[in-house]
Amino acid sequence: MRVLIKGARLLDPTLNLDMTGDLLVEEGHIKAISRKIETSEAVELISGEGLYVFPGIVDIHVHLREPGEEWKEDIESGTRAALHGGITRVACMPNTKPPNDRPEVTTYILEQAREKAWVKVYPIACITKGQEGKELTEFGRLKRAGACGVSDDGKWVSDSSIMKRALLYAKQLDLPVISHCEDHSLSRGGQINEGILSAKLGLRGVSFSSETIAVVRDLLLAKETKAPLHLAHLSVKENIPFLRWAKEEGIPFSAETCPHYFTFTEKEVDGYNTSAKVNPPLRTDEDVIAIKEALKEGLIEVIASDHAPHSPLEKDIEFELASFGMIGLEFLLPLSFNLVREGLLTPLTLLSYLITNPSKVLRIEPPMLKEGSLAEFVLFDPEEEWEVTEEKIQSKSKNTPLLGRRLKGKVKGVFLGNKRYLF
Ligand SMILES: [Zn+2]
Ligand SMILES: [Zn+2]
Repeated sequence: MRVLIKGARLLDPTLNLDMTGDLLVEEGHIKAISRKIETSEAVELISGEGLYVFPGIVDIHVHLREPGEEWKEDIESGTRAALHGGITRVACMPNTKPPNDRPEVTTYILEQAREKAWVKVYPIACITKGQEGKELTEFGRLKRAGACGVSDDGKWVSDSSIMKRALLYAKQLDLPVISHCEDHSLSRGGQINEGILSAKLGLRGVSFSSETIAVVRDLLLAKETKAPLHLAHLSVKENIPFLRWAKEEGIPFSAETCPHYFTFTEKEVDGYNTSAKVNPPLRTDEDVIAIKEALKEGLIEVIASDHAPHSPLEKDIEFELASFGMIGLEFLLPLSFNLVREGLLTPLTLLSYLITNPSKVLRIEPPMLKEGSLAEFVLFDPEEEWEVTEEKIQSKSKNTPLLGRRLKGKVKGVFLGNKRYLF
């Protein structure tokens, strides 16, 4: 296979590349990148006019639900959804059934991925056995089995001495510790953001403090241990001064948010809309503005989907019984590019939040638009509009408040080694 993409905007945040030019792919590798490539040999031409070409997205926060909840998603369907979203690498969270708290589960996930995954899968293992917050898992054995980080995502490790030991242990092994920041003693029973809306709907609210208390404690422990901490899915404005302080202190941390926290507000759940029930909950206009400012300032430098599929069994029920979470793999790029449209981020900065920085968290080399490297890149039309429908969604689950809405920005194709997918 020889393919020449002509006249695309070539973007690589890791190489700081932003130019209009041509890209030649040969036998699954990037053969040449240049302003103009002339070739006399037989080649298939793809017009890159109006298209962005950038390396595959690295989504470090995904729930693939396998093993144990395959009616919601599995490794095949979840990675297919990722591929359609321009994501070529996914890190999958360990709150499966059984949880990924032992090497056998890590190995199982990697074996399944080798057999049926469309993109590369990086398993995250549990911090504590059974995610019970009591006893640490065996990080060394888990890492040897292929785990790329540890997290009790879905739960916070509330015992500070256990979290401190986890950070020290992870530091020795250079494993990132990914924290789901939620002080459950404050958020217990909470359904949506605490405020006028929760009072109106008669639902128990979750205030900012349950998140920010957890963020601050974890930052203090990272300061003390100098261990690599990653803060998942930040949602409230009260975190921001503490993130700024932590940067100034040189604490080794990274912070993540998800498109739903800079796209939606709590208004989405009005009318008891379970598809917008997510943890942490959607917040207020002020929080959305603050999260965007934090992205602009570089305090939050990772964007991940927190793709959390649920079937109608868990969602088409009474609000208080419905599960938390929404799908996100296929909307990550269109929603994130709104930040560029609004003038908050340049395309390269945005892509560094989606490719370079998440790779740093996982301690992997990011995919790059580099001559000689394996083809792993995306063709993206930033202008094309499309309507979100159940039929178009590749994920097994359709739990998103975006159904019926129009999005701008469409993944047109993905090149991955010898494989090429055009959508
Ligand atoms: Zn979480
Ligand atoms: Zn999650």
